[in-house]
Amino acid sequence: MEKLYEGKAKIVYQTENPNHVIIYFKDEATAFNAQKKDIIEGKGILNNKISSIFFTLLNQAGVKTHFIKQISDREMLAYKTKIIPIEVVVRNLATGSIVKRLGIPEKTEFNPSLIEFYYKNDALGDPIICYEHVLVMKLATEEDVKTIKEMALKVNQILRDFLIKHDIILVDFKLEFGKLDDGTIVVADEISPDTCRFWDAKTGERMDKDRFRLNLGDLAKYYQEVLERIEK
Ligand code: UDP
Repeated sequence: MEKLYEGKAKIVYQTENPNHVIIYFKDEATAFNAQKKDIIEGKGILNNKISSIFFTLLNQAGVKTHFIKQISDREMLAYKTKIIPIEVVVRNLATGSIVKRLGIPEKTEFNPSLIEFYYKNDALGDPIICYEHVLVMKLATEEDVKTIKEMALKVNQILRDFLIKHDIILVDFKLEFGKLDDGTIVVADEISPDTCRFWDAKTGERMDKDRFRLNLGDLAKYYQEVLERIEK
């Protein structure tokens, strides 16, 4: 199969159907704009399975995503999209970069949930941008941004309600959006403990990539625990 793109954690392959791609999940873990790197055995399998569960949930709830089906331990079949170069972060509780940037207390609740945009550009280190930057740089149109915001909040509501039933708090997460050939905007990329912050509702333990960022260890064990809880 023709390789269309290789990123830090995934590879995208073209299939015989021009509208479909296969996304392969690797075991590479990176943080701090790829300055910190490691291989965590089995992470790709866990992220593929967890993402597949979340995308299935969203598709069933009427939120359009690129996901078609999981086809193997490390692969999912998805619609080919043109990725909109904006990382959309939704926050329910303050932690991570916002605490450092704005000096607000850890665990401050955002109600309504906060949406932020980052310009998807590795060379620039994915800088935070505002709505006007999005328009001026023509990253998306006014209408696209409206759609993206509505979709991001809907994804937050669905995942939050689902996860809390499994004793997981959805602290924050990053989404990417893509456009299909006909212009439809869909949720793309992955939704996994690499791209979300999950806290154990009972113990407060981190069940996400912060275990890698903060050298807490046992990453695969906690990703496995997320999978086992949401499979129930
Ligand atoms: N995030 C991501 N990719 C990025 C940056 C952030 O998936 O390149 C996710 C991250 O896992 C967290 C949320 O977006 O769930 C908010 O991250 P934050 O801005 O706090 O950045 P960080 O603390 O990771 O630098």
